[in-house]
Amino acid sequence: MSRKPFLLGFGAMRFPQTEEGKIDRPLAAEMLRYAMEHGVTYYDTAYTYHARESEPFLGEFLQDYDRASFQLATKLPQWLVESVDDARRIFEEQLERLKVDYFDYYLVHSLRKKTYVKMVDLGVITYLEKEVQAGRIKKLGFSFHSSFEDFRYILHSRAWDFCQIQYNWLDIEEQAGRAGYELATEHGIPVIVMEPIKGGSLLSIPPHLKEQVEQVAEEDSIAALSLRWVAEHRNVPVILSGMSTLEQVVENIATLSDPQPLTDEQHSALEEVGSYMRNRLGNGCTSCSYCMPCPFGVDIPGSFGIWNTFRLFGRNEQVSKRWESMGDTGPLSCTRCMACVPLCPQEIPIPFDLARVHEELSQGAL
Ligand code: SF4
Ligand code: SF4
Repeated sequence: MSRKPFLLGFGAMRFPQTEEGKIDRPLAAEMLRYAMEHGVTYYDTAYTYHARESEPFLGEFLQDYDRASFQLATKLPQWLVESVDDARRIFEEQLERLKVDYFDYYLVHSLRKKTYVKMVDLGVITYLEKEVQAGRIKKLGFSFHSSFEDFRYILHSRAWDFCQIQYNWLDIEEQAGRAGYELATEHGIPVIVMEPIKGGSLLSIPPHLKEQVEQVAEEDSIAALSLRWVAEHRNVPVILSGMSTLEQVVENIATLSDPQPLTDEQHSALEEVGSYMRNRLGNGCTSCSYCMPCPFGVDIPGSFGIWNTFRLFGRNEQVSKRWESMGDTGPLSCTRCMACVPLCPQEIPIPFDLARVHEELSQGAL
């Protein structure tokens, strides 16, 4: 894969939503159109994004475009697969929902060592390799959120065409991290990067550090600096951003159309902020909502969002208001049923962390 035609990939997992929680289709279509018109060619979705609405919506949108003008990536939800027949059924359904007859990039979604071994044992990897031979998958890869050890095992297990990891200036030692990026590079495997701004959470920087970054940022926002940080990695052909507003699309396209390397001062500022944040954050929740809905009504990403804000900024007015308004959706409603735990790609011990959220927020610790 070359770095061109465009480094920015459109992640179809954080589209704007209506009050009912559905994709705001007119607004999302406007964002996608803008991206198409400004040279973005890579579109990344998954079977489960937006409660399974992302694929059919994107399929409908892409129908107006020549198939050769875009590259489409989607993912096999390995946690829904118990047999080759499951994988085949889902794959066919995805082709139908996205209204295409091949995928440019197909990923086994959120693999870890245990689930990779399961997919091998079930014959799912062999089945996907047959789809590669049949030309219905152009490139086969996997997305990843587990430990570096698991990453190394999966990477070494077969000749992958690419891998997809969470990578940003905060997460250099988390998940696959920098070591994973370097290992893939050593093996000549391109690394598609997701969460370059960590679902927007890299933008929540305590004021004293924000000032420091702004002093060296020149004209750029922190989002732009974060994208430029990833763009410096030569083995990254695509940087995915799950954009929620047209403004984000416009800014990200402007940043990545000709990304300039960071200055030494900008590197130092991000390193300093990263080290402060790593020490303070409660957990690495990216607000992806894979764990939702909780059968007992807990707003899991909302609870962790307040917690992390509290840990970074202390008990400010915003934290107090959000905490008070949680009501029955707060951590106390968690029954520890454990239904959410296997769904979290970040492997967060959700009920355990929810108890910590309650303890710290209700006591006003820190
Ligand atoms: S463990 Fe708690 S938060 Fe998770 S699904 Fe069960 S009740 Fe909801
Ligand atoms: S707890 Fe995990 S699954 Fe739920 S929103 Fe956060 S990162 Fe996503």
